[in-house]
Amino acid sequence: MEIRKWKLFWKLHWIKILLGIGITALAISLVIFIIIGIRAWNEAESYLRQSQLAMIPLQLYLQIIMALIFGVVYTFMWYWLMFKRGAQSFTQTKKKSVAGEELGITWSDVIGMEEAKQEALEVVKLIKDRAELQRIGGKILKGILMLGPPGCGKTYLAKAIATEAKMPFISMSGSEFVEMFVGVGAGRIRSLFKQARQHAEFEGGCIIFIDEIDAVGAQRSVDRGFGGQTESNTTLNQLLVEMDGLKEKELNIILIGATNAPETFLDPALLRPGRFDRKIYVDLPGLEDRESLLAYYLRKVTFDQNDVKINRLAKITIGYSPADIANLVREAALIAVRHRKQSITMSEIEEARERIALGIKRKIKMNDEEKRQTAYHEAGHAVVTYLLAPSKDVFKASIIPRKATGGATWIPEKEETFIKDQKELLSEIKIALGSFAAERIKFGFTTAGVDGDFQVALGIAHNMAWRWGMGKSGLIGNFGSLVNQRQFANPLMSEETKAKLDNDVQNILNSCLQEASELLRKESALLDRFAEELFKKEELNYDEIEAIFREFGKSRT
Ligand code: ZN
Repeated sequence: MEIRKWKLFWKLHWIKILLGIGITALAISLVIFIIIGIRAWNEAESYLRQSQLAMIPLQLYLQIIMALIFGVVYTFMWYWLMFKRGAQSFTQTKKKSVAGEELGITWSDVIGMEEAKQEALEVVKLIKDRAELQRIGGKILKGILMLGPPGCGKTYLAKAIATEAKMPFISMSGSEFVEMFVGVGAGRIRSLFKQARQHAEFEGGCIIFIDEIDAVGAQRSVDRGFGGQTESNTTLNQLLVEMDGLKEKELNIILIGATNAPETFLDPALLRPGRFDRKIYVDLPGLEDRESLLAYYLRKVTFDQNDVKINRLAKITIGYSPADIANLVREAALIAVRHRKQSITMSEIEEARERIALGIKRKIKMNDEEKRQTAYHEAGHAVVTYLLAPSKDVFKASIIPRKATGGATWIPEKEETFIKDQKELLSEIKIALGSFAAERIKFGFTTAGVDGDFQVALGIAHNMAWRWGMGKSGLIGNFGSLVNQRQFANPLMSEETKAKLDNDVQNILNSCLQEASELLRKESALLDRFAEELFKKEELNYDEIEAIFREFGKSRT
């Protein structure tokens, strides 16, 4: 034990020990030289003494000039290193580590990611039972990779693992390793792992968390001559070396990397066995997860329990990350305060959603003509959605101008879908073109307000024909992938094929427009009713919309 302590002391303080020895040696030699000098002086001739004395002013003068030059250079370098480099020495990382218990994120705080949580739970077990695992010769965990879209709580989960495993936690971002100069990133990696090893020796283990690991771990590539590529390659190589080093030592160090980028973006070397061999997918929350997230955040504020239906709200927040949900509730609370309300109701939450998605309401007044046009535009979307797309809810319609739009219709999916089929794609095009159809039927002319809708419709139709083999011409193949190679004259594709595909796109758009127009013409009374109601009230909520469709016998419920 004693020897180990001394070893550790040497590891931590070797610079100081060496410096001490060096300075002492210098001082002793200086004293010896002075003594020899005085003796020589006393024995020298008087002529020699005088000539030596005459030289002293010149020597002093030269020394002062040298000292000044060195002083200026040294100060400049010191300033540059200390301040321009953010008060840290160039290749060192002085990251504050936090003790696991101080992070204070327990399992009960981890909500809205049940699947990832189960995986993480297992990881903690493996970290804790390390000794047992070693005894029976099982594989020891070294690297964990967290994958998933931003805002889903990867950092949070990593902290929870540290808290539960009761280990110190060092966190860094991959971008902190990215530097212009060769070797700097690698130096920082070395320094980071060194720090972790010290923690592990003192405290029995350490967790390193590197966010945005793709900044370091992107696929290595050939240097194009600017040196930047070499630098990122050496950084990644150093990371690999350190990770392999973890295997040999008996120290309990776990590296957790997180990335928003797809797995294929990372260098394959990182994913090889013995490196990041455990993956946790932290995905967007599903319906139940969203419900628990909403309940969690709403519990922190006052909300109207009769008005705000958490299960309904969970349904219409498809695609929201935990961060988005937290943001939604926060924004709703701010709006409630501004309206001097005692508690948050559904109308505040809806306003918050619109503000986040579309920007704040504008004070500009549309004239009646513009307002009516917008009302018909939105009514076109709403009616087509309600009648042709049973998988979508028509949740809200509004003709209050916002940052980029004159109006908006909110049509969330009722359930998550992962891959859309042809029918769903076509109904999405019909919904987008519903506005154009409604404007044309009512007024005989259309507006520039269809700009965004056309972009959506064209995008889907293009992909259907060019990428997914859904065009009338029967051409099969992902032609989009050929064009992506940015070649002006693409030898892999004939002009004939291109013309056929473009023809397919227009075919899809035209038949969708025709179907939407026929529907709206047939239901023109419903369209008029919806548009006039929207014109009058400017905003229609879920229940008001349901009521209108019920009047015409179209209710879904
Ligand atoms: Zn529109």
